[in-house]
Amino acid sequence: MSILPANPKANYLSFRSEIDEAVARVLESGYYLMGEQTALLEEEFAAHVGVAHGVGVASGTDALHLALRAAGVGAGSEVITVSHTAVATVAAIELAGAEPVFVDVDPFYYTMDPVQLDEVVTSRTKAILPVHLYGHPAPMEEIVACAQQHDLFIIEDCAQSHGAAIGDRMTGSWGHLAAFSFYPTKNLSALGDGGMIVTNDATLAQKVRHLQQYGWKERYISEMPGLNSRLDEIQAAILRVKLNHLSQDNRKRTAIAQKYTEGLAGSGVDTPNVGNQVSHVFHQYVIRTEQRDELRKQLRADDIVTLIHYPVPVHEQPAYRGRISLPVPLPHTEAIARQILSLPIYPELTTDEVDAVIGAIAAQR
Ligand SMILES: *Cc1c(COP(=O)(O)O)cnc(C)c1O
Repeated sequence: MSILPANPKANYLSFRSEIDEAVARVLESGYYLMGEQTALLEEEFAAHVGVAHGVGVASGTDALHLALRAAGVGAGSEVITVSHTAVATVAAIELAGAEPVFVDVDPFYYTMDPVQLDEVVTSRTKAILPVHLYGHPAPMEEIVACAQQHDLFIIEDCAQSHGAAIGDRMTGSWGHLAAFSFYPTKNLSALGDGGMIVTNDATLAQKVRHLQQYGWKERYISEMPGLNSRLDEIQAAILRVKLNHLSQDNRKRTAIAQKYTEGLAGSGVDTPNVGNQVSHVFHQYVIRTEQRDELRKQLRADDIVTLIHYPVPVHEQPAYRGRISLPVPLPHTEAIARQILSLPIYPELTTDEVDAVIGAIAAQR
């Protein structure tokens, strides 16, 4: 039996009876979109993050795209983000009609390096879009300070950071808007696609609600050009069940991460750093080594499946290469892509499996 990098089925089985009952209730209710389950999840998830409003949408990509549009980001705007991220972050900026502008990442935490922000702000910059990559929060105090100085919006990409915090403030509560994904392998995951936008601003939340449904303020009357991006009732009901277990699932991930870090000390690979005051939720447990490709191959031979998040920075991918201007060099982004490796991590991963991974890496020395 292979050790898998993630295991959405195991998470379903952990809560099977609760999920099956919740799904059956939706099927019986006759309401499959824009119903009670979505409304309750929006309330409960916003409360979990510590903000006033949540709006369920069809995916994390849509959440980013609609958050940007609600903030007024469109043609002619620039949005500062990182190239060391899921392509979805950058795709959402272009979907909104705007131009991505990249800064490098910090070589210790792999999140946005705030030092370069001032240098890349122009008269067209409209927003900063930090990514809480792997479940480690980006340095929000510094990013907020820069945004305030230049009067910019902050839109957080929280697709990997459900439950992560700096001090007692959750990711998703620092920016004007934040976007979550509920893709099946995320820390809080649907059994299909889903996403949510959260914000403290009632006007922005209302604007997202209009945009997500054809620009309707009133049924069948479009006040602005919109689209269709809804979270469905079945996924919302499943997510409500799993939200109740999110903190416990995150504690399991953190315990696995701690075991990896202890077990890999002295093994020759770099283990993840965790910033001061930071609650890391280990969406991924990412090690770094010059021998990444050999190690990955050897682990595969031992039936341990690893992934690389991400093997090619967005600015070097065929869809973007040569098309996006780079005002500053991105040496850490480019070096990291060749050296990082994501080890298996999910709440149901067993102690024996974690030990097997540690043993296989230690045997490589
Ligand atoms: C998963 C992910 C997204 C996109 O979410 P989808 O629900 O797959 O559209 C965006 N940003 C990051 C960092 C992600 O990991």
